[in-house]
Amino acid sequence: AKVKEVEFMGSSVRPKDCPKDDRPEFAMLGRSNVGKSSLINSLVRKKEVALTSKKPGKTQLINHFLVNKSWYLVDLPGYGFANAPESARMDWSSFTKGYFLNRETLVGILLLVDASVPPKKIDLDCANWIGRNNIPMTIVFTKCDKTKNSKGQRVDENIKSFQELIKENYKIHPPWIMTSSATGLGRDELLLHMSQLRNY
Ligand code: GDP
Repeated sequence: AKVKEVEFMGSSVRPKDCPKDDRPEFAMLGRSNVGKSSLINSLVRKKEVALTSKKPGKTQLINHFLVNKSWYLVDLPGYGFANAPESARMDWSSFTKGYFLNRETLVGILLLVDASVPPKKIDLDCANWIGRNNIPMTIVFTKCDKTKNSKGQRVDENIKSFQELIKENYKIHPPWIMTSSATGLGRDELLLHMSQLRNY
């Protein structure tokens, strides 16, 4: 599961503008600031492949990266901008949901969850929506190099509470991986996991 080459295939404003769906595809999703761009850059070992432009209200884009000429890693707009107007949030949901439900080659969603903060309702809601729509999902905890945040909340406890909440409330048991773009933790595991899902 090595990344030998990565090609940026373009940004799409609408799901129907995406590259032809002729290859297995993984979509990365998460709250704004979860560490999505950093993780993409760390996975492909390139600085700034995933350009970081994420101001609230800015046009939202679906970015396709072709890896090893064989599969797509897809960067979706972050959700949950603290200060976005309600209308922008609604746009996000119909836009992204349309993509999830119609993309035939979608192998799974990587839902990024910031392990340095206690569970957030918006992430739990998102996991629940994905689960209810029977889309395969892997929970990717980010920033696992931090052991505690500034409030003294512990990463291992945040992870445990998130897992318990989705198990109890939504009866879903997605696989999960702990990652850090700062240390490279979980990078190989995540690449291997995706290669197994592609060949499944
Ligand atoms: P995005 O909005 O989801 O694309 O998030 P970014 O990748 O831009 O990261 C948001 C912030 O989190 C930045 O300040 C990063 O430096 C920080 N960050 C991202 N990944 C990690 C990580 O693995 N560990 C730590 N400690 N900080 C991280």
